[in-house]
Amino acid sequence: MRVVLLGAPGSGKGTQAQKLVARYGMPQISTGDLLREAVSEGSVLGKKASMAMDAGELVADEIVLGMIRERLDRQDPAGFVLDGFPRNETQAGALEGLLETIGQPLDCAVLMDVDFEILMQRLTGRRSCPQCGRVYNVYFSPPQQTDVCDHCGGRLEQRTDDNEATIRNRLEVYESRTRPLIGFYARRDLLQIVDAEGDIDEVFERLISALEHLRKSGSA
Ligand code: AMP
Repeated sequence: MRVVLLGAPGSGKGTQAQKLVARYGMPQISTGDLLREAVSEGSVLGKKASMAMDAGELVADEIVLGMIRERLDRQDPAGFVLDGFPRNETQAGALEGLLETIGQPLDCAVLMDVDFEILMQRLTGRRSCPQCGRVYNVYFSPPQQTDVCDHCGGRLEQRTDDNEATIRNRLEVYESRTRPLIGFYARRDLLQIVDAEGDIDEVFERLISALEHLRKSGSA
């Protein structure tokens, strides 16, 4: 299955993508994770990306598209779930062209739909463990001990771009640059909308039923 997860920062794309990987075995391709990796390695690409990321702006298309081209070249028969990409119409058009070239068109783009206030709480409350990667939220799913990972005892951290000023900017960038992709995919008859509020497992059930519906109808 070849799926794009669309949605604002904090809509749960990363969490749900991980669950799709566990269920269907396709790889998750997250441009945010690839960029954070490049930043922590201190590569030239990482240095170029980090200023935009800290400000909550989009990283230049040529950087992101280069990473995606390289990643999609390693084709997987199980397909892929793209999380955080595409983020504007240039990227969506480039992805469409690339997938056409390799004969692997998208099956669907799922919009993870969440109210603005909930997005703010999800983002400002998010903490993650640098040792084992577990993610918590101080409002919705707090660790038993403040700032300590229940799983491995690691010291929980807040992402540098999860502060309030950067979050507001990221949400504005989403509204102006990424939201238009809803129309882009609706026009191609690829859009599915999933209510992404509430419990993680409930959201996953809704996501699965949208995708299973596609599989049964033979489009995926
Ligand atoms: P994310 O983890 O998806 O929220 O991404 C974190 C940051 O990485 C974003 O705020 C952007 O600065 C950058 N980023 C991630 N994906 C993209 C993309 N497809 N295009 C441009 N910038 C991106």
